[in-house]
Amino acid sequence: MKLIYDYTQEQLIDEFLALGEKKFRATQVFEWIYRKHVNQFSSMNNLSLDLREKLSQTYSIDLLKIKEKQVSQDGTIKYLFELKDGGLIESVLMIHDYGRSLCVTSQLGCNMGCRFCASGLLKKQRNLTSGEMVNQVLTVMHDTNEKVTHVVVMGTGEPFDNYDHVMNFIHIINHPKGLAIGARHLTISTCGIIDKIEMYAHEGIQTNLAISLHAPNDEIRNQLMPINKVYSMDRLREAMKYYIEKTNRRITLEYILLKGVNDQLIHARQLAHYIKGLNAYVNLIPYNAVNEHGYQQSSLKDVESFKNELLRLKINVTQRKEHGRDIDGACGQLRAKKVGESDNANYRKN
Ligand code: SAH
Repeated sequence: MKLIYDYTQEQLIDEFLALGEKKFRATQVFEWIYRKHVNQFSSMNNLSLDLREKLSQTYSIDLLKIKEKQVSQDGTIKYLFELKDGGLIESVLMIHDYGRSLCVTSQLGCNMGCRFCASGLLKKQRNLTSGEMVNQVLTVMHDTNEKVTHVVVMGTGEPFDNYDHVMNFIHIINHPKGLAIGARHLTISTCGIIDKIEMYAHEGIQTNLAISLHAPNDEIRNQLMPINKVYSMDRLREAMKYYIEKTNRRITLEYILLKGVNDQLIHARQLAHYIKGLNAYVNLIPYNAVNEHGYQQSSLKDVESFKNELLRLKINVTQRKEHGRDIDGACGQLRAKKVGESDNANYRKN
């Protein structure tokens, strides 16, 4: 069965025309779903009973099944959802002073193999469809009875390894007649797939782009992130420059501080040198330790010195606040635990 959430308003119109229905019926359904938050065709009372019946036989409109939900003392909620095919995914809702931000999963597992990350413990089984991403937003809004105001595609998966579905997802939740989540409130985070960064520069949508950099030089980045062996930091820099030129948007560089690995003053200096001339700022991220990997969070003192060195070198820096420390904080941790319990064979050992 097709998933109704897979379609932008324009695509839904095409679907309805193919079904022999009028164009405005598609607009009505889009409105029921995204404006009135209705998740059953039977309640769409400006459609004929026949059409409601036809739609429920053609499309699935079910929200995701909540398998588990952990609520942190700081208000963060971590959801474990079950997809139609039994796949498990996580979404995390964070409450900020500026709004409610949802971290969305883009793939079932991930193949990027970053050494510090819990998501990569389970290899990619498949891409999520646009609708499965939309459904994370809708299910959380339904469960909390509040609007999600910001979305970050930073959950499990590499969004630029699922480019078309992620773009469609962005267009669906950004649509002014739908959830209307503003482009400036949408962020995509990538480990640095450069041809897609360049493609994204032409997408014509003013979202935010974050790059998971995490290292000041190729030697360290090669150790931490296998993708760097395909696209070196020089090439990544070129792609970022291109993106900034084309879009006039500032890029966020994510940098997890790992004790003794990338958190020394010399690294801050190399990082500053790398960033000079790029319209970008560094977001320092506290590491959420993943037992299987053995990396540790940097000491507060080292974090301070690292940050001050960047500031001294006139690099803009922000520091990410930790959310949900008490609830399996790291991306993919809850899922890895659950899938690990039920299917140890799936666990990647390296
Ligand atoms: N594949 C994309 C998006 C998913 S990862 C990317 O690489 O950006 C989202 C962010 O969380 C990345 O910056 C990633 O490096 C970071 N991350 C992964 N594991 C983490 C951990 N254990 N602690 C803190 N940040 C982590």
